[in-house]
Formats: sequence, structure tokens, C-alpha cells
Amino acid sequence: MNNTSKHQGLRNRLAAELAEKGIEQEAVLKAIKTVPRHLFLDSSFESHAYQNKAFPIGADQTISHPYTVAFQTELLGVSPGDKILEIGTGSGYQTAVLLVLKAQVYTLERQLELFKKTQSFFKKTGYFPKKHVFGDGYLGLPEHAPYDGIVVTAGAPFVPKPLLEQLKIGGRLVIPLGDSEQEMTLYTRTAAHSFERKTYGSFKFVPLLEKKN
Ligand code: SAH
Repeated sequence: MNNTSKHQGLRNRLAAELAEKGIEQEAVLKAIKTVPRHLFLDSSFESHAYQNKAFPIGADQTISHPYTVAFQTELLGVSPGDKILEIGTGSGYQTAVLLVLKAQVYTLERQLELFKKTQSFFKKTGYFPKKHVFGDGYLGLPEHAPYDGIVVTAGAPFVPKPLLEQLKIGGRLVIPLGDSEQEMTLYTRTAAHSFERKTYGSFKFVPLLEKKN
């Protein structure tokens, strides 16, 4: 694998930049220092991999900004062994960050082209989610529910009810809500039928697609 000390230096710098922007959890910063983000991008973008930028990954999708990945991961509050559902596998970068945090990761992608590309990528890099499923994030993954946390990595026009239903009591759903711009929203399931909702500022995501191609 092409992962040199130069890449390590760039990652350390990126983690320092994210800490300056307000990312506090050491484990999250350590994961940013660990995951070779350049391997998740097409090689033409490699030299930019450790800038805080989003990049195209094919099928009109982007790998999220490192800051956004770190921010969502921090809100999820992952403990080792937690069962986490990710909606929108994309490049697999967020998946890898969750795996470094020792989560059991279930991840869903609904575009076949990206699903296949990332599946072979997981094999190559040795990041193995518990399940990588081709399916629709609006439905979640009920056969493996309930989850300690669910993270949606695309902008959702509304909260899909199945995602709330698939949380454990105490579980957390991190979801950017809105159309052209999204508000980062955290739902915590406080009891079977009650949820606490908090918002954390505005972000820009590609849309959570509503119909299967
Ligand atoms: N976590 C990714 C971010 C990718 S962008 C990363 O780190 O690279 C959002 C992803 O969500 C895209 O791959 C897109 O194809 C996928 N997506 C969009 N709508 C979806 C849906 N309804 N269900 C599952 N995945 C979806």
C-alpha cells in the first residue's frame, strides 16, 4: 500500500487543523491521523487528500470534508464495540474512521457503481465493515437493528422513520436535514417513544436519493 511517512505528516497536520476548528475527542483525531484518506480518492486528487476538502468519487458523489466526517463521528459518540449503521458508504472513508474507533460497522450504499468500487476497495485495504449492503438508506437495515448509533452521510429532506425505530434506547442518530443546505441534527432515543433533538449548525451535503436507480 502506498502510505508513506510523508502521508503521515500530512495527516498529523490535518488532525491539528481539525482540532483548531473545534474537534475535541482524542480518539476521533487519532482516527483521522490513522486512516490513509489519499487511498480513498482517485489518484489524480492524491496531492490534495489531506486538505480539508470534499472531492468527487464517481457517480456524482463526493467524499465528505474531513471536518464533516470528524464532526459527525464526534456527535455519534462511538465507544469500542458499538454497533453503528452508516447510510451512504460512498468512498468508505467514514466507514474506515468508524472501524478505527473499533465500532462494528454496518454500511449501506444505494448506487451500484459506488457499491462495487468500494467493495473491492475494502478488500484491498483490509478495512472490513461487519456488513456492506447495497440498499436504500431510507429503510435502514432492520435485520441487524437495533443500533447504538446511525450516521447519515447525505442530506435528507426529512427524518426517515425507520432510522429512529432502529435505534437502541440511548442510541443516537446523526443526520444532516434540509434541501440545498442542511442542519446537522442529533436525535437521541431517550425511551421507546421519545426522542431528544438538538441541532449543530449548517453543512452542505449531496442529497440522500429517494428512488432507486
Ligand atoms: N460516507 C461517505 C460520504 C459519501 S457522499 C464517504 O466518506 O465517502 C453520500 C453517499 O450516500 C453517496 O455514496 C451516495 O451514493 C449515498 N446515498 C445517497 N442516497 C442514498 C440512499 N438513499 N441510501 C443509501 N446511500 C445513499
